[in-house]
Amino acid sequence: MERSTIVRVHEGLHARPATRFVKLAKGFESDVELVKDGKAVSAKSSVKLMLLAVKENQEVTVRANGADAIEAIEALIGYLENPRAGLDDENDGGEAGPETAAAAPAREGGPPAATAVDGTPKLQGVAASEGVAVGPAFAHFPPEIEGPGRRLQADEIEGELKRFRGAVASVQSRMDRTLAENNLSAGDRGIVAALRDIAADDSLTGEVERLIKGGDDAVSAVIAAAATIAADFSAVDDHYLNARADDVHAVGRQICLALLGQDELSLETIPQGAILIADDIGAWDLARAPLKRIGGVVCGHGGATSHIAIIARSHGIPAVLGLGDKINELRTAREVAIDGNAGHVIVDPDEAARADFSRRVEAAAQERAGLKVFKNVTPTRADGTVIEVAANIGSLEEIEAAQKAGAMGVGLFRTELLFMRHMHLPSEEMQAGTYSALAKAFAPHPVIVRTLDIGGDKPIAGIEFPDEENPFLGWRGIRMCLDRPDIFKRQLRALLRAAVHGNIKVMLPMVSEIGEVTRTRALVDECAAELKAEGVPHADFDLGVMIETPAAVLIAPALAKEVAFFSIGTNDLTQYIMAADRLNPTVAKLNDVTNPAVMSAIELTAKAGVAAGIMVGMCGEAAGRPDLIPTFIGMGLTELSMSPASIQRAKKTIAAMAAEQ
Ligand code: PEP
Ligand code: MG
Repeated sequence: MERSTIVRVHEGLHARPATRFVKLAKGFESDVELVKDGKAVSAKSSVKLMLLAVKENQEVTVRANGADAIEAIEALIGYLENPRAGLDDENDGGEAGPETAAAAPAREGGPPAATAVDGTPKLQGVAASEGVAVGPAFAHFPPEIEGPGRRLQADEIEGELKRFRGAVASVQSRMDRTLAENNLSAGDRGIVAALRDIAADDSLTGEVERLIKGGDDAVSAVIAAAATIAADFSAVDDHYLNARADDVHAVGRQICLALLGQDELSLETIPQGAILIADDIGAWDLARAPLKRIGGVVCGHGGATSHIAIIARSHGIPAVLGLGDKINELRTAREVAIDGNAGHVIVDPDEAARADFSRRVEAAAQERAGLKVFKNVTPTRADGTVIEVAANIGSLEEIEAAQKAGAMGVGLFRTELLFMRHMHLPSEEMQAGTYSALAKAFAPHPVIVRTLDIGGDKPIAGIEFPDEENPFLGWRGIRMCLDRPDIFKRQLRALLRAAVHGNIKVMLPMVSEIGEVTRTRALVDECAAELKAEGVPHADFDLGVMIETPAAVLIAPALAKEVAFFSIGTNDLTQYIMAADRLNPTVAKLNDVTNPAVMSAIELTAKAGVAAGIMVGMCGEAAGRPDLIPTFIGMGLTELSMSPASIQRAKKTIAAMAAEQ
């Protein structure tokens, strides 16, 4: 017996909704399966359900076989169609999914940098949770667990299975105790609950038992099974699920420790303000750690969407993750300074660096406290024109930080992360889901999505970039997209589909001639016609351009007639106007937005946009600078988009300007 439906669960069946679905399914005697695209998995395994990667608005079939099949189908279809009805949501609000992630990471770090501008040696990682900190190093390197690789005798197997089941039970009950203790935040509770579900899931326990029955010792079996399931999570076309691979390893480690009768090295003794240094740290361990005492986190593993990053951001702890083997350079550090905005770590800072960091920490704390009152301010010019202060973000995990800061929409959604996090190009489906979630989160405010802005300096899987002498002047941004309509159209179709859900606007990066806009518009029309023919809901969007090349500035009056808005990308505009590589510290002095040449390029752009009656905004780093905001507004800019951390300060600056006039 089976029935099909369209999934209405927000964001699809990721961690917690999968768990709820499983809980419902387990209440029935019947065998129950969920089927998507011809693939059927047991509805009683949350790991298998997550790996099916069911998204909101997709069609699925619930299949049941047994005495209570009718009731099972009724209940499960009911949940998929109306997930909030009739649930005993013990952990509601503790969602471990993308929607609860807090503050914003900056951008993925580049290759390890040896030396910074001032000569202080720095390590570069992923800027995973913003803020700066300096403090004593607390190295946490629990020894790696290795399976003995022992072959069991036939008469040992039953005993080994019992030992394994006992270990799982003790890990689960420890997690249950942690959940019951009631001193976890809602977000951390959701994360711990999701880990407990993995520990209890048949996918993991079933695979381990299979291996033990085949003669593997329990520890080796757990390590092998966790590695297999983690690899499955890594391969899914969904960055949230990719990050669950670390969770599976963490759960596997807990079960191994229980089997070995060992305790995890404790974080209980971490001193006040210390910087936690680890190769990897289980989200469960971090959630239970004395977080108030932790000044910062530095890890070899992890990325912007890992649970460690989510916990760090929601507790306002600066974090730099993904350092790789460089983490070993910190094993013997006495003191560490970290910059979670830039992804930098300084080992044993000298007197000057320490003083500099201490000053920044103190100043940031004082300022943060005073800025909160500006969160809900709608800043206006003296003539009453509203100035949109929006957020620059690069993933769904950053939505909450932007909203908490008081963002009036998104002025720049960098889509590169979506493409860089995967082993293959993201599907239209996945992109449509991501852009729709953004549109919904900020509606009725606008969300400006920038089409893929990538070049040979940041290659991604699935696109062959030629070797170039000068990748910054090469095949990148809109140039590459127009040459690869297969990739570009997938993104444009996803954006047209997402526009149904809110106020989506689209902007093109690296534009240097009008033909790039007209060719894009033709592709958009083509995509819209295809979607119409396929009967797929979609809506039109405003098309704008980034002004970040000198050519775009010089043709701004003509460009303004072709587009709905300008957004000035001062990061690239500065490097191209000044012919000074933005990544080259030797020419950092020239890379200065306040140079009169750059300021006059901004002014020319603003004049052209204002004369044509289109919106002129800015999304480069300069948009968040309080010393420059009055000048930009004076030039006619009405939208400024910046990192969430800068929003309240910018609102304050604009409010003060209006008050002075
Ligand atoms: C810019 O160039 O100013 C900009 C916002 O884009 P990115 O920093 O992503 O190149
Ligand atoms: Mg740019």
